[in-house]
Amino acid sequence: MTSARIYLDYAATSPIDPRVVAAMRPWIEEGWGNPSSLHAEGRAAREAVEAARAEVARLIGARPNEIVFTGSGTEANNLALLGLADGACAADHAHVVASSFEHPSVLEPCRALRRREAVITLLPVTPDGIVLPETLHGAMRPNTRLVSIMAANNVLGTLQPIRELSEVAHAGGARFHTDAVQAVGYVPIDVHRGGIDALSMSAHKLGGPKGVGALFVRDGIEIEPLLRGGGQEGGRRSATENVAGIVGFGEAARIAREERVDVAARLVQLRDRLHRVIAERVPETYLIGDRYRRLPGHLCLGFSGLENDTIRLMLELDAAGVAVSTGSACSAHTAAEPSYVLTALGFDQLRARGALRITLGRRTTAEELDRFAEILPRAVKTLRPVAKSSHFAGVQQ
Ligand code: PLP
Repeated sequence: MTSARIYLDYAATSPIDPRVVAAMRPWIEEGWGNPSSLHAEGRAAREAVEAARAEVARLIGARPNEIVFTGSGTEANNLALLGLADGACAADHAHVVASSFEHPSVLEPCRALRRREAVITLLPVTPDGIVLPETLHGAMRPNTRLVSIMAANNVLGTLQPIRELSEVAHAGGARFHTDAVQAVGYVPIDVHRGGIDALSMSAHKLGGPKGVGALFVRDGIEIEPLLRGGGQEGGRRSATENVAGIVGFGEAARIAREERVDVAARLVQLRDRLHRVIAERVPETYLIGDRYRRLPGHLCLGFSGLENDTIRLMLELDAAGVAVSTGSACSAHTAAEPSYVLTALGFDQLRARGALRITLGRRTTAEELDRFAEILPRAVKTLRPVAKSSHFAGVQQ
């Protein structure tokens, strides 16, 4: 990949921070001890894992013993859904609530729970991509055990009213889990003030390595493990720890804690300017998702008349040196189908096919966005049907 390329797909994954690589290197090259071993090599690895646990905990206002390291955000979500709800569900057809635009790593465990006799409610969202507390309130039942609502949607970037939602869940006697994979490191999160019982994270979304995530589980809450074996992670996730990955996650968490406020302020400015320029240069562009309640670096845009061609637009941009996404990277192989996230907003079948997800991050520069703002209008013009472009001609002059 040449440095001239413009990477605007931070919601899919973020480039690893060089400070994270430097922190990880000794734990790949020299510190290869097993943290469960009692000898010096093992003790050194254990110390490194525990230092990282303290950093990850600090980023979200948790205590270190409340952090369970996992192999991904996907695993953290599976552990939360299956580990907090499963036992209870089989026993009494317990009720679990999630929103209809959760990430597949929440929706699929919900489907698995349904096969195990749980009753699942998927909440509707507003046309702006927000889950309203009153909607959750109306869905609560006496036997609702678990509510899982994401902190930020991965396609739209919209931020959910987590504190209000957790209050509704608790008032109804349920536990509250949030998939905060997109939000952690970009918006302030305090699990205790936010009334959160469980929260999922993933290192690679905030400048850390791939293949390491974590689940916060509030002190005193029992969780049924997915992986059983040697009893690592307090018995909540057996497996020899990925020491270098965990150290990298800890360093990414430290950097995010120290720099988040400045990075977020810069991203909001860059993103809003980019949005203004695109709206001026590309006729009939529409913003998808709430204008204000969104992640700092996140834009989700539709282009009238091009909804069916969003993949072609993405590929055209790719050929011109720009990496963006048509929605979620995880569902790129099914991108020709209407997106369930856009469908959840009430979009019709055509509009639900077409969104360009443009996500900025720590390394994004104003100069890159200036270049992108030149490339995008050309790409849209190339693809818009001839009849459409003549219709737009007046607007463009
Ligand atoms: N949850 C959300 C909201 C995500 O955006 C993603 C990844 O795209 C995940 C969970 C899964 O995380 P991981 O890639 O670490 O499995």
